[in-house]
Amino acid sequence: MRLLDGKKIAEAIRSEVAADVASFISKGAAAPKLVAVLVGEDPASAVYVRNKVKACAQAGLASEEIRRPAELPEAALLALVAELNARSDVDGILVQMPLPSHISAAKVIVAVDPAKDVDGFHPVNVGRLWGGGGGFVPCTPLGMMEILARSDIPVEGRRAVVIGRSDIVGKPMAALLLKQSATVTICHSRTADLAAVAAQADILVAAIGRKAFVRESFIKPGATVIDVGINQVRDAAEAAALFPGDSSRLDEIKKRGYTLVGDVHPAEAARRAGAFTPVPGGVGPLTIALLLRNTVRAARARRGGS
Ligand code: NAD
Repeated sequence: MRLLDGKKIAEAIRSEVAADVASFISKGAAAPKLVAVLVGEDPASAVYVRNKVKACAQAGLASEEIRRPAELPEAALLALVAELNARSDVDGILVQMPLPSHISAAKVIVAVDPAKDVDGFHPVNVGRLWGGGGGFVPCTPLGMMEILARSDIPVEGRRAVVIGRSDIVGKPMAALLLKQSATVTICHSRTADLAAVAAQADILVAAIGRKAFVRESFIKPGATVIDVGINQVRDAAEAAALFPGDSSRLDEIKKRGYTLVGDVHPAEAARRAGAFTPVPGGVGPLTIALLLRNTVRAARARRGGS
């Protein structure tokens, strides 16, 4: 079984982005700029935003973090987005999700200028993904396609099964696989005989949000399994069953209270899959790398092709 090293692939993309930014700047242009908006105090969201801003700096992009309190009225957030849409120094706008419950995420998503929508969530970009192309594509699915491409895993003509139909992962991933001529099935919480459907896949994508949900019986022998899930395991006995013989996982639980597992049972996938993305270190690192690439693309498209 081949472990697909997302960290290495993400590093390669980040250095390509850095070289691209350097060439962009060398022609006299200002560095591409990402603005991340964080509403509220959710600690996980704060870490995500901090990591995105840090990654921008490492690749030579400019960035700005705008923090607003959780009580921010919806109208004030929409006004802020309008201001960022109008600012000529801003190439990419990212509003960190989830938003507080009094704010409609759908309203905020449509408020972002599609030309600055580096998350690829705006309906115009969703339409472009399923239609003629050319828009921004959500970063996590884009990252998964990079893993496949850079690991020389063929997609054309293969059977792909995507478990999960979210707007940010499952559906755009299905669109990208279809675009590359896979035969695609999307499964979800109401799918009948899920294991049997999944077991037909040459490429199986798990984007469910349930720890170790995909078991051996879901996996066709030799299949490529892409695990998007990020779930915490706090129980030592559970971790020992998921990662037999891996004492570092138990050490991690002792040290920080949890270890991470994906939506796929790692020990069972190791027995059955041909290739597998580990958690952590598989899909996760790609998301930020592709966000940087989307931001540079936005800058080029908006400011001309320097
Ligand atoms: P979501 O909750 O929006 O969607 C989950 C999907 O799983 C739904 O479409 C649902 O139909 C399906 N589902 C739920 N229970 C199911 C069941 N019993 N059987 C079959 N399908 C079922 O989640 P999401 O935003 O798509 O995220 C999925 C996972 O990926 C989460 O663990 C999340 O943390 C992770 N994630 C990782 C990254 C990354 O960068 N690696 C990015 C985004 C999300």
